[in-house]
Amino acid sequence: MSTPSMPPSRYLEATPEYGQPLTEAPGLVRVVARNPGPMTYHGTNTWLIEAEHGWIVVDPGPEDPHHQQAVLDACAGKIHTILVTHSHHDHEAGAQSLARLAEAPLYGGSHGQNPDTLILPGISLVRTPGHTMDHVCVDAGDGRLLSGDHIMGWSTSVILRAPHGSMSAYLASLKETRARNDRTLFSAHGPPITEPESFISGLLKSRLNKIAQTLSALTPAPQPENQLLATLYRNLPQNLSRAAAEMLGSMLEELEARGEAIHEGAGWRRK
Ligand SMILES: [Zn+2]
Repeated sequence: MSTPSMPPSRYLEATPEYGQPLTEAPGLVRVVARNPGPMTYHGTNTWLIEAEHGWIVVDPGPEDPHHQQAVLDACAGKIHTILVTHSHHDHEAGAQSLARLAEAPLYGGSHGQNPDTLILPGISLVRTPGHTMDHVCVDAGDGRLLSGDHIMGWSTSVILRAPHGSMSAYLASLKETRARNDRTLFSAHGPPITEPESFISGLLKSRLNKIAQTLSALTPAPQPENQLLATLYRNLPQNLSRAAAEMLGSMLEELEARGEAIHEGAGWRRK
């Protein structure tokens, strides 16, 4: 008798080989940058999509000449377009210099052209605000979605507080992404997500639980955010304290938008 296998709640992997082209699907290659850290896992995945007139490079990653050379080599110098999923350093710091080296146009992020104006056969962009307001995912066709930092297998995405991010936009983007029924998500950090629907449902559930916990930590008298932070994120490592503060901020803003929390004086209280 066999029991049905449970879909994974996290997708982890051993440290991939840095600077080597790793083919993850036909015409879809990643080169992992050597920028590991508490927010980047083993490093940024720079995705290369093989297209008719050259490669589409998604998230060039950090400003690192070795990584750029590895990307150029993997594309045999034929880069058609460079795309950035969102304006975070680990995704776009090396974008402008790669665009110059490859003589290719750059779209998205803080330095690229408006991604809404990009027209490429077989590829389309999906706006997924939340983690940041400018976040886009890349539909590479055939049920494959490059999900950037919107959905990652190794860790939940940090949702920045306004104006940079938005919890309510993130929850809506998650639902929209789930409804797409993609076969595989290829994120900017970590291995591919092979069961998107159940994985996204798990993300939604844990996020809504955390928002409910945040609500139950609120009292009739206002509490400062650092007090709420200590209640909701116990034993937090120092290097994650800023991320947790952003997360708490975006959850409080979500509760405020729902009419369940009020920002008063230097703190927050239950409505
Ligand atoms: Zn990011």
